[in-house]
Amino acid sequence: MLNNQIPVFIYQWYELNKRDLPWRETTNPYQIWVSEIILQQTKVVQGLGYYYRFLDLFPSVQELANASMDDVLKAWQGLGYYSRARNLYQAAKLIVELYKGEFPNTYKEVISLPGVGEYTAAAICSFAYNQPYAVVDGNVFRVLSRIFGINTPIDTSKGKLEFQALATSLINQRSPALHNQAMMEFGALQCVPQSPDCHVCKINTVCSAFLNNQVSSLPVKGKKSKIRARYFNYLVIKVGVSTFLQKRESDDVWKGLYEFPLIESTNNLVVESLMIESEFKLIFSDSTIKYINPHPTVFKHVLSHQVIFAKFWEIDLNKFHLSNRLRVNWNEIHLFPTSKLIENYLNSRT
Ligand code: SF4
Repeated sequence: MLNNQIPVFIYQWYELNKRDLPWRETTNPYQIWVSEIILQQTKVVQGLGYYYRFLDLFPSVQELANASMDDVLKAWQGLGYYSRARNLYQAAKLIVELYKGEFPNTYKEVISLPGVGEYTAAAICSFAYNQPYAVVDGNVFRVLSRIFGINTPIDTSKGKLEFQALATSLINQRSPALHNQAMMEFGALQCVPQSPDCHVCKINTVCSAFLNNQVSSLPVKGKKSKIRARYFNYLVIKVGVSTFLQKRESDDVWKGLYEFPLIESTNNLVVESLMIESEFKLIFSDSTIKYINPHPTVFKHVLSHQVIFAKFWEIDLNKFHLSNRLRVNWNEIHLFPTSKLIENYLNSRT
């Protein structure tokens, strides 16, 4: 079988096995863009509900651009990787400003939008405009590395160039949208990461990994980066029916989301060590604390390069004022965009 015949077998497989997904039924670049950004770090089954909700709230680029950042982050709540939502919002504003609200239709313009890399630009240009740009996502990396027996680590610059060049050489110039969808779907459903059913695979006679017993070792990934442990101490200050929230402003995880006042420490704190932290002393210098208790659960939240251990310190006071923080009624907290971690804590109290 020639290299350029392999995709033909994959198209045939695709026609028989593809899932019905809403973003495959449209060539609207805005809807495709939203779906691709959601799917960057999210599985289809989880992303579907968010996709429908997001388009309900913001049906067009203009409506997204006219929304507030808080509304956009609220719609994104629970999906994680919030920079995706911030970039969508900023890109929508740019599209309105630079292109009068018309979604750009050249690869060069699309890739210049915030949050759009090579993969997303190729996906938008091929699905919306049928332009011959090959997508290389995690599924395509796996399919190509196995079929062609490529050992170059996929997360290195060399690997990215090599796989992109191979994918580009295979693209179907007449039907790039079909080609890209078929390659990705084949990776998502047939050539899956763990134990694919190679015996029923239509291309097992030409698959290098299958023929050479390398299926479980391909694709190759480089060394994993170190995971950093962080210790968050949230101050859940209760004054009657209110509490205090702050917005995360620094260039860190969850930027733009709301949380309880936070003291980050280098290790797990007990109450005595928390109370001698300088930030704690500063916040409560003029107050008499009625009680302070940690919530019984230490919430563990795993992100790609860090793991956060969060303690929620429930602190009761008679009177209190905290400048630069929002005083919020308890039953209004759900109106603010928050991280899944805060959401989990709030759910544990109900
Ligand atoms: S034979 Fe197995 S490893 Fe090769 S393409 Fe098919 S499913 Fe993937």
